Amino acid sequence: MSNTDIDSQIELNINKYISELSKLIESKTIAIDDNKPEFNEATEYLKNLLTSSGINDIKIINEFGNQIIFAQNNIDKNLKTVLLYAHYDVQPAEPLNLWNSDPFKLTIKDNYLFGRGVADDKTLLYSIIKALELIKNNKLNLNYNIKIVFEPSEESSSIELNKLFKDENNLQKYKDLFKCDVLLACDSDMISEEKPSISTSVRGILATEVTIFGPNRDLHSGSYGGVVGNPITEMCRLLDNIHDLDNKIKIHGFYDNVNNFNEDELIDIDLEDLKKDIEVDDVIYEKGYTLKQCCTTRPTFEINGIYGGYNGKGSKTIIPNYCVAKISCRLVDNQVPYEIFNKIQEYFKNNIRKAFKFKIDRNDEGSMAVNSNTNSNEFRKIVNILSDVYNKKIVFDKVGGSIPIISKFKEVLGCDVIFVGFAYNNCNCHGPNENYSLQSLKNGIKTLVNYLTTN
Ligand SMILES: [Zn+2]
Repeated sequence: MSNTDIDSQIELNINKYISELSKLIESKTIAIDDNKPEFNEATEYLKNLLTSSGINDIKIINEFGNQIIFAQNNIDKNLKTVLLYAHYDVQPAEPLNLWNSDPFKLTIKDNYLFGRGVADDKTLLYSIIKALELIKNNKLNLNYNIKIVFEPSEESSSIELNKLFKDENNLQKYKDLFKCDVLLACDSDMISEEKPSISTSVRGILATEVTIFGPNRDLHSGSYGGVVGNPITEMCRLLDNIHDLDNKIKIHGFYDNVNNFNEDELIDIDLEDLKKDIEVDDVIYEKGYTLKQCCTTRPTFEINGIYGGYNGKGSKTIIPNYCVAKISCRLVDNQVPYEIFNKIQEYFKNNIRKAFKFKIDRNDEGSMAVNSNTNSNEFRKIVNILSDVYNKKIVFDKVGGSIPIISKFKEVLGCDVIFVGFAYNNCNCHGPNENYSLQSLKNGIKTLVNYLTTN
């Protein structure tokens, strides 16, 4: 089927698409709320849409919390299997007064859709279903076995999927169920319509909390000051020693498993624009790398907060009992969260003075970076299709943030991951007036139809 034919099919159905999508936007599937009725309703609706798109095997996995929707067609052993991932939960819409329209009512203005979830991730989720429907209605041949996972809580730490992957008794069952050759992570974005792009990696993450203990209680700084070690001072000393003046991280072995490749293709960040945006006179980044590399392909060590001692009004002259630092690291390439955790632990163990004790905790298991295999046929194929659909060269982009659940899928299933997304960088996802261009809706469906029906 030619792109022109797909275009006319989409135009023919566009009013139906808008009204169905409106229903999805209306359902307040806010993951942090305990709002089961909304999730039940959305699940029913998605189930019906999937059925009419020709997918015959739909399983609702609800033993871990809200409904994980899994769907697949008949498996043909001669075909590769693609797993299409998207999520149907959304962030809360507050503060409501900053929206120009009701966040839970799909509004169209100047060829843009507005509403909570239009960019992240309901329209793309919907586009998957409509691509399959278009394939069915036009009797096109699928070139893959189709598996689908629609997640109910991507915005709140993927509670259900994480439980599922930890469920040792059933893990093999779910591994078989989700088994695929390639995972299309349909929860990404692109730079803009003028500069269509594909993300080739996301960073991993590790979050930790270090506590340094001094004396067994807060002490009078007059009676004890001058002889007793101050845990806040010790924390500052140890943290201050982690970066050198070139912004390299000095923790022993921190850069093991980090590739030193330079990807020239990455479009750099404009330094002047950045300084203006965040109102600073200068920025600090790792010597030898571009700004873009530093915030996408290089690892980081950030102190997110420090507390301890007295923080109330006026002064309280104490030597505090303890100090806590919250730390997070963005990880790249093959850095393994627990190994980095151990290295941070070693650093504190080897450098803290005898006057203090410390403990270090992990908030969760963290996640590894995910890199697409940009040399694979599947990756090259989707880049070619995108380039046809946008009639432009596709720029490669990298994401500084993390998608832990995609990292988990890759780890458990051992499949290639391709990030797919049509929302533009200025889509305001998570913020007020979240938007998605009508053209992105069409391009998404067209891209998926092409991908799923060609070699
Ligand atoms: Zn998302």
